Amino acid sequence: MACDPAELAVPGVRGLAPYEPGKPIETLAREHGLEPAGIIKLASNENPRGPSPQALSAAREALDGVHRYPDGAGTGLREHLAARHSVESAAITLGNGSNDVLDMIARTFLGPGRNAVFSRHAFAVYPISTRVAGAAARVAPACPADHPEAPYGHDLDAMAALVDADTRVVFIANPNNPTGTWVERAAVERFLETVPQHVIVVLDEAYSEYVREPEFPNGICWLSRFPNLVVTHTFSKIHGLAGLRCGYAISSPAMADLLNRVRHPFNVNSTALAAAEAALSDEAFIVESARINAEGLARLEAGFRELGLAPIPSVANFVSVDVGRPAGPVYEALLTEGVIVRPVGGYELPQHLRVTVGTETENARVLDALARVLAL
Ligand code: PMP
Repeated sequence: MACDPAELAVPGVRGLAPYEPGKPIETLAREHGLEPAGIIKLASNENPRGPSPQALSAAREALDGVHRYPDGAGTGLREHLAARHSVESAAITLGNGSNDVLDMIARTFLGPGRNAVFSRHAFAVYPISTRVAGAAARVAPACPADHPEAPYGHDLDAMAALVDADTRVVFIANPNNPTGTWVERAAVERFLETVPQHVIVVLDEAYSEYVREPEFPNGICWLSRFPNLVVTHTFSKIHGLAGLRCGYAISSPAMADLLNRVRHPFNVNSTALAAAEAALSDEAFIVESARINAEGLARLEAGFRELGLAPIPSVANFVSVDVGRPAGPVYEALLTEGVIVRPVGGYELPQHLRVTVGTETENARVLDALARVLAL
C-alpha cells in the first residue's frame, strides 16, 4: 500500500520549507555553462580571504588521523576556547556549526505545548529548529522599515511582549542575518533583566567579531548574572572555516551539561577540531579579516547608494539592499553575469538582495553587475 510520508511526519516537519542555502559556484557553472573561475559567490557570508593558513595546515595534518574517531569531548578546542573567553571549559558545548548548537538548545528546551520567540526577518534556523521540536514559533514584529538605526531589526520590547508562561527559548541574533542590524548593550541587558527565569535567552553572536560599534555587547560578560543565557559563536564566518562545520555555545556549566546530553556523539570531526583550534590562535588573520570587511562593507554601502538604492545599515560581513523592485529577477540576471548573491524573499524581504562583503575586486564586480542589471 502506497503511503505519503508527509502524512506520517510530525506536524512541525510537515509545514516546513527546507533551509535554502546560497547557490554553490559549481551549480551555477553547470546551469549556465560558465567557467567556475569566473564566478563570484557573495551569497553565504563566508570569509572571502579563505581559511587562515595556520588553520589549513592544522587541518591537513589532522587528515592523517581520520581512521580514528575524533575526541568526542573536543577537549583541546574547549580548553582553548575557555582560555580565550575566560570561562571554564565545562561552560562550552561544541557543535557541527553553530546551527547544531541552536538545534540542541531547541531539542533540550522546546517541545509540544512550549514556544520560542524570535523576530520577524531573523535567522532561518530559529523557526526550523523550533518547529521540528514540536514547539510553536512566536514571531515578534521587527523595527519598522524607516527606523533610523535598525530598519527591519530586532525590537526587543516587542519580543519581550510575546514571552508567556509557555515560552522556553528566545533567539536574539546580534547582529542579525539577513538584516545586518544589531542591538546595543543597554537594550540587551534590560531584556535579560526583564525576561522571566524560565526562559532561555540565546544570544547568537555568529558575526560579532566583525562589529566595531562601542556599544555592541559581549554576551559572555552576563553569563554569571543570568544563568538562563546561552551565547553562540561560529568558526564559519571570520575564521573562514564554514566548510568544516564548527561552532559552540558558552553558558553556565549546568546548561552545558544538559546540551551535551543531546549532542550527537562525535558531532565535530577531527579535522574541524584541529583547524578551529589553530584558527583561534591566528590573531593576525582575524584582525585583518575584520579590517578588510569594514572597508568592503563601506564600499558596498556607498556603491548601493550611488545606484540610488537603500541598503540596510549593517555591522556584519554582508549587507541587504532594497533593489526597488522584486528581487528575484535581479538575482537571476546577476547569475547570468556570474555573480551569486542571496535573495531574501524567504525572510519576508522580497525586494532585498543580501550581498556578502567580498574582496575589493569582488565588491567592485557585484556593484558593476548590479548597475548593468538594474539599467536593463
Ligand atoms: N547564526 C546566524 C545568525 C547565521 O547567519 C548563521 C549562518 N548563516 C549561523 C548562526 C550558523 O552558522 P554555522 O552553522 O555555519 O555556524
